[in-house]
Amino acid sequence: MTDLLKTYNPDIVEGKWYDKWAEKGYFAASFKPERDSYSIVMPPPNITGQLHLGHALDNVFPDILIRWKRMMGYNTLWLPGTDHASIATEKKVVDKIREDGQEKEDFGRDGFLEKAWEWKEEYGNRITKQLRKLGSSCDWSRERFTMDEGCSRAVREVFVELYDRGLIYQGDYIVNWCPDCQTTVSDIEVEHEDHVSHIWHLRYPLKDSNEYIVVATTRPETMLGDTAVAVNPSDERYQDLIGKMVVLPLMNREIPIIADNFVDQEFGTGMVKVTPAHDPNDFEMGRRHELELIKVIDENAVMTEVTGKYAGLDRYECRKQVVAELKAEGLLDKIEDYEHSVGQCYRCDTVIEPLVSKQWFVKMKPLAEPAIKAVKDGRIRFVPERFKKVYLNWMENIQDWCISRQLWWGHRIPVWYCQDCGEIIVSKEEVVSKCTACNSENLVQEEDVLDTWFSSGLWPFSTMGWPVDTEELAYYYPTDVLVTGRDIIFFWVARMIFMALEFMDEVPFKDVYIHGLVRDAEGRKMSKSLGNGIDPIEVIDEYGSDALRFTLITGNTPGNDMRFREERLEASRNFANKIWNAARFILMNIEDVDFDGINPDDLKLTLADRWILSRVNKVNSNIEKALNDYNFGELSKILYDFIWSEFCDWYIELVKSRLYQDKDLQAKETAQYIGVTILEKILRLLHPVMPFITEEIWQQLPGTGESIMIAPWPEIEQGVISDEIEDKMALIMDVIKSIRNIRNEMKVNPGKRIKAILNSPEGKFDILQEGYNYIKDLARLKELSIEINIEEKPDKSSTSIVSGVEIILPLEGMVDLDKEIARLEKELEEVGSEIKRAEGKLANEGFVNKAPGHLVQREREKLQEFKEKKVKLQQSLDDLR
Ligand SMILES: [Zn+2]
Ligand SMILES: [Zn+2]
Repeated sequence: MTDLLKTYNPDIVEGKWYDKWAEKGYFAASFKPERDSYSIVMPPPNITGQLHLGHALDNVFPDILIRWKRMMGYNTLWLPGTDHASIATEKKVVDKIREDGQEKEDFGRDGFLEKAWEWKEEYGNRITKQLRKLGSSCDWSRERFTMDEGCSRAVREVFVELYDRGLIYQGDYIVNWCPDCQTTVSDIEVEHEDHVSHIWHLRYPLKDSNEYIVVATTRPETMLGDTAVAVNPSDERYQDLIGKMVVLPLMNREIPIIADNFVDQEFGTGMVKVTPAHDPNDFEMGRRHELELIKVIDENAVMTEVTGKYAGLDRYECRKQVVAELKAEGLLDKIEDYEHSVGQCYRCDTVIEPLVSKQWFVKMKPLAEPAIKAVKDGRIRFVPERFKKVYLNWMENIQDWCISRQLWWGHRIPVWYCQDCGEIIVSKEEVVSKCTACNSENLVQEEDVLDTWFSSGLWPFSTMGWPVDTEELAYYYPTDVLVTGRDIIFFWVARMIFMALEFMDEVPFKDVYIHGLVRDAEGRKMSKSLGNGIDPIEVIDEYGSDALRFTLITGNTPGNDMRFREERLEASRNFANKIWNAARFILMNIEDVDFDGINPDDLKLTLADRWILSRVNKVNSNIEKALNDYNFGELSKILYDFIWSEFCDWYIELVKSRLYQDKDLQAKETAQYIGVTILEKILRLLHPVMPFITEEIWQQLPGTGESIMIAPWPEIEQGVISDEIEDKMALIMDVIKSIRNIRNEMKVNPGKRIKAILNSPEGKFDILQEGYNYIKDLARLKELSIEINIEEKPDKSSTSIVSGVEIILPLEGMVDLDKEIARLEKELEEVGSEIKRAEGKLANEGFVNKAPGHLVQREREKLQEFKEKKVKLQQSLDDLR
């Protein structure tokens, strides 16, 4: 008896194997210079994270690739790690502190960082533990963290080098400021939401005149900081006004009317107020015209001292008062309703306030150029290719990157200011205690930390030991493929590319495989607010990791979102059960067989054996092609169709008669041998996708080795691939399917053996003869005669034609004619009334016009189905009569 339990239990099987693999050290990369390397770095999940389906995709795809390459004999490295996630983690820690009624300032910077590290120790490994449940075969001995010593050293090295090369600078800049998080937020972290609001038309009096001009604005409170009014230089209406002055209401300041191409003539009156300190476009305009910056809103979104009586008011309260006062003075022209998009903080949804402040920047143009070239000339390939355009478009229009963040958790910017002589010291050292200019020890380190993507941008090489010239870098760098979601192409992929080209002088990876999002069954994004998220750990507990992995690749095409359906999980679990049952069947039929004593040359191969050998090798080759193309959806289809249908449903059925007899021992032994051989090969082909169940079964097979994980990938035996044999088998299978269909339609008892005549064209006769026993067995026939071009057919028979072969099933003895006629008549009657009902419903205008479209459509489809059924039933009835 086999050791496989009667029913497959993923819980028992999956629990034991992962630890065994880890103990044996199978995950660990090792240097074997005689072998080619294959490496992938894991997109580091945030330490704030809990495994979600997006992470699962980030990990299942690389695990499939790594397991495959490992079996192929490559020296593989899959390097795992986590990201400190500056702003996200800081927020978690702040929230926790606030729960206890305190603020982060109560702890001071060092005290807060201690809290943050504690938090990291407590929760930081949660996600990597969860990744183990997925089966991820990464080298945990090399696990890294973006704030560990080595990664931090790489960050300082890069900062200082870029600074020395003139690519990092400090400057006044308008940034997106979140008044709640108290930090700058990068452009791509700002989420735009449509708000229903107004457009206010304000009157600004012309200097020395009784006339006024009208400007339109969506933010009247910022008028307190206006330093100009602008029109488009080609706007005919305002040519006379350019160069004149207006008196800014409420503030009584004189400001000029300027001409700038940026002004949209169609917006409002075609005249706009210019507030360089509180709007990014106005900021740029202010630079072009050397306008004064007047900051009227501060970091807390409160009006500043320069606004006089408005000082201390919240920005929205100030808006109300400004509008009321302008109205009182007769300077409010009109208010219109207006819907426009407003930038919000992606963490807390607070409306972003554009503010001018001193920030650190990376100069992007010089870095972008080589990064554009590397993708254009194909050194880096996007899969699917359409993302190349997305990437290039962004890189070609790139703005300087603001890298400073007003947070504590993160890499503190390695810059020190001398309080005595004003020297700015930029250093690779962790601590600087003396001014390099005046030797003073009175130094203050920059308060800000770096944008979290600064360190993850170095991930492919910082994790391999850079800036030290390590063996790993020499051997595993550049990596082979990066697998990630399309939502972080700009945040992360682009940054890794230009950082690597600048510091490694080589691309970080050759291929970038972009996967889509996992959506819910209705196609909606999974989110906390909708409560439609799916916890992969719960799924694994219920269905097993193998089933989850298989589900995630089913139907998945590169770059496209997928819908996650419960039925798919069930289908994947059924797939696992099917394999399990097939394996048990084979194992139970090979007891006492001495496989070592079998000489493959002595085997008596049948057509079915040659067919399955040809198929498994062709499938092997198709699988490799799908893997090389990163076509995981195709991979799942190939595996599913071959294993479920060809191997389990056909081949196993085809060999049963040989296994169940004892007359021809050579035939029996051949069936046993080929059955095991194919099963073993299938397990290896399936292993990268379903690692656990394949190991469990493989261990039970005779003559296998230590672990399927380190077994060699099956080689394609070109010699046994034969289109001729596959065509022959296809014909035989078509004939069997056709007879089964007729039996089904005629409701013939499945156990009943019937008669069949095959009327064959000359060219197919020999093939059908060769398949004689298969057809007889699998179509459950008691008599089968194969003829060539007969003309006389028995009357009262059911016929059909496949590939030129006419299948004739005499009804006599197959069905009770009278009973069958009565049954068909009754069914015909029922279908007739269904057709009437559906037609009536569809003729009812009330239904057609008022019911939801899909219901009407469904009714139409039903009607069509009934009509088709009617034709078939009539045909069957005619045959019987
Ligand atoms: Zn915020
Ligand atoms: Zn100094």
